[in-house]
Amino acid sequence: MQYDVVVIGGGIVGLATALQLKNANPKLKLVVIEKETELAKHQTGNNSGVIHSGLYYKPGSLKATNCIRGYNLLLEFCNANEVPYELCGKIVVATSQEEVPLLNNLYTRGGQNGLKNLKKLSQGELKEYEPHVAGIEGIFVPQTGIVNYTIVSEKYGESIRTAGGEIHLGEKVIEIQKKAGEAVVVTQKASYSTKLVVNCGGLYSDKVAGMTVPNLDVKIIPFRGEYYKLKKDKQYLVKNLIYPVPDPNFPFLGVHFTRMAKGGVEAGPNAVLAFKREGYKKSDINLSELAESLAWPGFRKVAKKYWKTGFGEMYRSFSKAAFTKALQKLIPEIQQGDLVEGGAGVRAQACDRTGGLVDDFLILEAENAINVCNAPSPAATSSLAIGETVAALALKRF
Ligand SMILES: Cc1cc2nc3c(=O)[nH]c(=O)nc-3n(C[C@H](O)[C@H](O)[C@H](O)COP(=O)(O)OP(=O)(O)OC[C@H]3O[C@@H](n4cnc5c(N)ncnc54)[C@H](O)[C@@H]3O)c2cc1C
Repeated sequence: MQYDVVVIGGGIVGLATALQLKNANPKLKLVVIEKETELAKHQTGNNSGVIHSGLYYKPGSLKATNCIRGYNLLLEFCNANEVPYELCGKIVVATSQEEVPLLNNLYTRGGQNGLKNLKKLSQGELKEYEPHVAGIEGIFVPQTGIVNYTIVSEKYGESIRTAGGEIHLGEKVIEIQKKAGEAVVVTQKASYSTKLVVNCGGLYSDKVAGMTVPNLDVKIIPFRGEYYKLKKDKQYLVKNLIYPVPDPNFPFLGVHFTRMAKGGVEAGPNAVLAFKREGYKKSDINLSELAESLAWPGFRKVAKKYWKTGFGEMYRSFSKAAFTKALQKLIPEIQQGDLVEGGAGVRAQACDRTGGLVDDFLILEAENAINVCNAPSPAATSSLAIGETVAALALKRF
């Protein structure tokens, strides 16, 4: 089979990239190859469903620029394809005096990133937005929204097929060979000759990248994020989205409350090292994957730097009482009995050999290949912008 582009990975980034490639050049012969029998089975289908505004990211970074561009493209796509979403806004809440300067930094950063109508909230004003919240100051971010990214991904898939692209499910890529200036992508079922491979393998993006880039300098370290759900009769405690001020030394946003587009209210996610890349349960262990994470020099550096926070997250993972206590900082009324287990997602976080966690999106080019090697949050929000960026790099090669 002869293709112009083979996209590996049927998560939201692979699908958005395939769609943007088709939008830019409808004649491209393109296929998306996904190892699962359905789209969006991993990070995309297990995320918080938030349409991020671009508040947090370093001005000028790929995360900041792609989030804001992606936000606009996503809303346009949802409007054109009747995907339901809601721009309900969110509040970020400082619960101690020490957090106030960090909250002020976020407000400034949001302005630098071009967010309009951010509103600083006093203690009293916080209650107007979320009557059950406890905080001393806050910010209201009107742009933030909620959507079901599995539905978005399925719609991207429909649009790819309508544009003449193919999607092959249930095929795992096991090898990429080089032959006469082309790449041959080999799965258990077939071989695909192609001018270009685009790797959007998420939790396995480093493994797939390793098929075209020798001695890759990044490794994916999987971090599981566990959720609780609020029991139905307690959902009144949360109107929309309530976030803490994130720890600037830690790459995740901290446990928060999210009203979900699919219904219900989730609390979480925490962030613990996953002992298996696609391991959604605490008991899931893949010894060789775990050994690989622990042996990676960059991870050891991260463990040394974040051990205290990491232990706290692990403790919260095993102790519902400790998880509840973290949530009570935002809503003191929440009790253990108000929460039921609510599933988990695993984040693919790239970690470089020596420097630690890679903060920004990372796209690495190789001969006949473009590898998306770090696409953590807000990559679902940013997907169409990341896709646009990769498509522009790809089209330079044709
Ligand atoms: C807990 C959690 C909460 C999050 N919350 C948000 C949020 O609220 N808002 C937001 O914008 N972002 C959020 N994110 C981030 C966002 O979900 C991810 O950045 C995004 O889904 C990444 O998409 P992806 O396509 O790169 O990865 P994935 O969705 O993981 O897709 C990668 C695909 O590649 C396939 N694959 C891997 N190897 C192979 C192979 N060898 N052959 C074939 N197929 C292969 C996998 O099966 C998978 O389907 C969250 C993430 C997590 C985990």
